[in-house]
Amino acid sequence: MTDAGQCVRRASHPTAALGIIFPLDERVHDGQTPSHRRLTKRICVAEPAPGPTHVLPIPAWLDCDHVGLALCMLKNVSSWNFDMFLFNRLTHGNALACLVSHLFHLHGLLKYFRLDPMKLRKFLVLVQEDYHRRNPYHNAVHAADVTQAIHCYISEAKLARTMRPQEVMLGLLAAAVHDIDHPGVNLTFLRNTGHYLARVQRGSSVLENHHWRSTLARLRESEVFEHLVIAERHELEACLQSLILATDISRQSEFLSRFQLLMEHGALDMTDAAQRHLILQISLKCADISNPCRPWHVSHRWGERVCEEFFRQGDLERRSRMPISSLCDRYTDTIPTIQIGFMTHVAMPLFEAWAQFMDTHLSRSLLCNLVRNRHRWQQLQHGWNGGSNGCQQQDNTPRSWHNTFLVRW
Ligand SMILES: [Zn+2]
Repeated sequence: MTDAGQCVRRASHPTAALGIIFPLDERVHDGQTPSHRRLTKRICVAEPAPGPTHVLPIPAWLDCDHVGLALCMLKNVSSWNFDMFLFNRLTHGNALACLVSHLFHLHGLLKYFRLDPMKLRKFLVLVQEDYHRRNPYHNAVHAADVTQAIHCYISEAKLARTMRPQEVMLGLLAAAVHDIDHPGVNLTFLRNTGHYLARVQRGSSVLENHHWRSTLARLRESEVFEHLVIAERHELEACLQSLILATDISRQSEFLSRFQLLMEHGALDMTDAAQRHLILQISLKCADISNPCRPWHVSHRWGERVCEEFFRQGDLERRSRMPISSLCDRYTDTIPTIQIGFMTHVAMPLFEAWAQFMDTHLSRSLLCNLVRNRHRWQQLQHGWNGGSNGCQQQDNTPRSWHNTFLVRW
């Protein structure tokens, strides 16, 4: 990791503007230890593994029995049941770098774009290191999970036969970087605390613009696209920026309306580059909020993590005597209620539209899991605090829930 990288990460810490110092906890949330972090850093300085380029790119010198198991897992990388938590453990916290490297090989992108494998690996390690390991949710494992999800979507026949190699690469890259250097709090918090991110970036999509700028810095630092002519590089970067900015959940209605309008008029034309780009944006948005559609044993862990991140923001606000943001109070809001609201009013409309566009077994499985998982949360909700909690006072209309999530995220 570079000095610049450390600078960006320290500056984007949510308490940067509050002056709160937390004791350093050596054991971070996802079970990674300092020794694991050292292993991560070794990746960018080690020699590449010998052999042809189709060899799975997990470095054998990681010196651990788990590497063989991680390689086995990658044989099922196109399965919707892929467990990114397990893969992250087996790769010693390197899930993002290992997965994206593998997918680039799998889709033949290194050869097609004449990419230097070591520059690509350097870029991926820089990106992985720029995610905050202490964030329960917005960390590199989430980025890896989103990347695996978009890989599943673009591998479906309808997209696989229409997407160009550049679009496949951009989809994977955008998923990998879309939350880089996320501070683990939302925009409202940044604004209320006068955080520098909210001050330097006015207007909308403050965090997403920060993710884009951080990505651009890592692209330049790693020189992964330096061999391309400037026009090609600029085109790639412009498309990548547009994809990252599309992950702003406050723009969900805008994208969903455009998508539904095209489908209603039967005007979706996959030979049109602009429409393929819209589909890539929609597929990235689906991948970004796909946790509720995973099998329960994975889905509920993501649900707990995202709520824990909300609650930590609430804890900071309470400690700083600020008003506690909606869905962020661990003493009144509950995980099942938050999850049920999100699934019903944010995830369901998007995945129903996606299933209309892509009427496949995978799309039906996503919806089926979504309905089943919501039912599981509803069962848990009944047992939560004896079925009594502060969320019963929540305005439960769809409009209210939708707006609450758009502000919270
Ligand atoms: Zn995300």
